[in-house]
Amino acid sequence: MDPNNPGLPVCFRCTAPAVIFQRDSGHHLCGAHLVEDIESRVADLIKTRGMIAPGDRVAVALSGGKDSTALLLLLVSLLPTLHDVKLIAITIDEGIAGYRDATITAAEHLACDLGIEHHCISFPELFGNSLDVFLKGRETQACSICGILRRKALAVGARQVSATKLATGHNLDDEAQSVLMNVFRGDLPRLIRNSGTDSSGKFIPRIKPLSLIPEKEIAVYLMLKNAWKELPECPYTRYALRREVRSVLSNFEYKHPGTMLHLMESREKIEQPCTRPIIASLHSCRECGDPSSSDLCQVCSLLRSLGR
Ligand code: SF4
Ligand code: ZN
Repeated sequence: MDPNNPGLPVCFRCTAPAVIFQRDSGHHLCGAHLVEDIESRVADLIKTRGMIAPGDRVAVALSGGKDSTALLLLLVSLLPTLHDVKLIAITIDEGIAGYRDATITAAEHLACDLGIEHHCISFPELFGNSLDVFLKGRETQACSICGILRRKALAVGARQVSATKLATGHNLDDEAQSVLMNVFRGDLPRLIRNSGTDSSGKFIPRIKPLSLIPEKEIAVYLMLKNAWKELPECPYTRYALRREVRSVLSNFEYKHPGTMLHLMESREKIEQPCTRPIIASLHSCRECGDPSSSDLCQVCSLLRSLGR
């Protein structure tokens, strides 16, 4: 307890007032020690998974939202420990009225403040139309259409800047939600693909350095770094299955701390025996040449169904 404010919890490392309680470890942490703890967990994950190697050009998917902002700040803070690594920020403008402009402005300012090269790519430029146009009458499929096209746009952006890695800001909550959603859908290939592992050499490897950091800790990290911004919410969020899964999972995590980490461990156990056969069955899409499990890749068949 804090002697000046009896009743308030203190940091288990230094006895300063705590700003967060990590339910799974049972530790209270002050601001300085939370920042240190997050930075060291991200650095450990990068190292143990071999996510970044000397000489890498890392394209960072920077939407301007909370997770990608935290990712860029963390990678910049770790740069001195990463030998000869260059960061390049890439922002995708899907064309979502009333939402994307504000986050793009935030992304531009952040990249400029940090001195990071920044590129922006839009859906109309790549696919001929904005997401808003593609989604007319298909709003309930918003996130799956957006996800497929955005993944492709990021891959194109990463190739354009000759990146050797593509880093995204998915946090522990996102990853655990994805595991559960893919299990609900019975979609094993996507469950494996979502992990970002690839030993085929056919994709620019995707890395997720925040994948063991809970969303709540990222929010507090941003506040401690004075980088918290209130931004508009995507208007299509209300159609997202993820929203329901998120609420179920947060409730579960609260009652049973460690649930989200266990989901991640389950995915890793499934991934090892399954990745090789899935990758071996990949060939080239007959329209764009990208690796695909069928004749036409997911993006090209989606664009066809959208009338392009
Ligand atoms: Fe795309 Fe759905 Fe996210 Fe909106 S909420 S940006 S539609 S994935
Ligand atoms: Zn402390």
